[in-house]
Amino acid sequence: MDRSSPGEETGEVGGEGRGSDLRIVSDPLSGREVIFAPGRARRPGSYGALLEPAAPDEAEVCPFCEGRERETPPELFALGGSDDREPDTPGWKVRVVPNLYPAFERQQVVIHTPTHARSLGEIPDNQLALLAAAWAEVAERAWAQGFDHLFAFINEGKAAGASRPHSHSQLIWLDGLPPEIAAEAPRLRQGSCALCALLDGLDPTLKLAERKVGESTVSLAVSPTGRAPYELLIAPSEHLPDAFGCTELLAAALALAAEGVRRLNAIEGPSPFNIWLHNFQRDGHWHLELLPRLNVFAGIELGAGIFVNTLEPKAAAARLRG
Ligand SMILES: [Zn+2]
Ligand SMILES: [Zn+2]
Ligand SMILES: [Zn+2]
Repeated sequence: MDRSSPGEETGEVGGEGRGSDLRIVSDPLSGREVIFAPGRARRPGSYGALLEPAAPDEAEVCPFCEGRERETPPELFALGGSDDREPDTPGWKVRVVPNLYPAFERQQVVIHTPTHARSLGEIPDNQLALLAAAWAEVAERAWAQGFDHLFAFINEGKAAGASRPHSHSQLIWLDGLPPEIAAEAPRLRQGSCALCALLDGLDPTLKLAERKVGESTVSLAVSPTGRAPYELLIAPSEHLPDAFGCTELLAAALALAAEGVRRLNAIEGPSPFNIWLHNFQRDGHWHLELLPRLNVFAGIELGAGIFVNTLEPKAAAARLRG
């Protein structure tokens, strides 16, 4: 199978003699194999897991809400407050605290809003600009202490691994690129970048929105090789390695992610998802991946590394635009 060109179809699967609509593609960023198998969907538009409804007293006991600052570990810093605000008191817009149950040496939680919002889709753009600034501030601190990667991600909904319903992100300080990003790095080098090629050759019907920032553009598109229904890709058109070095572009990307969440929730209901930043300090092309968790990855995905997606990207884009 020839996998040299981005997103190229690598074959068709016969389906044991039945006339088949299966299509195999290779993701140009990761090399991951994806089989589009729309016939496998139980019924169109039905993928199962939705965000759990709010518990009756959820907002009253939420440690991330303004007024309960003493219920989190002491904050590292907060943004949007007045100059005379004391740490761990109300009056902030975005707040950064250590993770209470860290799996890594350094792991922070960024609380996206002082009021009880359950989804990134509810966070307004001016808050998301502060979120981008908070991520960049933590990155500066990580670099200053000799770490060379900051992994940023958002889990929303229990099916996506979130332990708290109040919208938040997490930041993990690492020495070197984590494996998924290291696997992409050689494919995203300046001059032969698979993401530049993907964006240049993108089917315009897959693009959902874009934002201009000065001379640059950040776009939101349905991934042409998404591993699950409605997988979205958010990236600057310019080949830029480091999102933390340009917070305006990062803020635009987060605003587009929130727009993607709103579009997804409008058609499927409140949906669990993961968003992560693939960032490259030296050479690479940073991007956000938004993976809805409406389906469950099973043996074929986790054991074989072959992802079966029951919704064709064009069909996903048509729904998300509608
Ligand atoms: Zn809350
Ligand atoms: Zn590029
Ligand atoms: Zn990636």
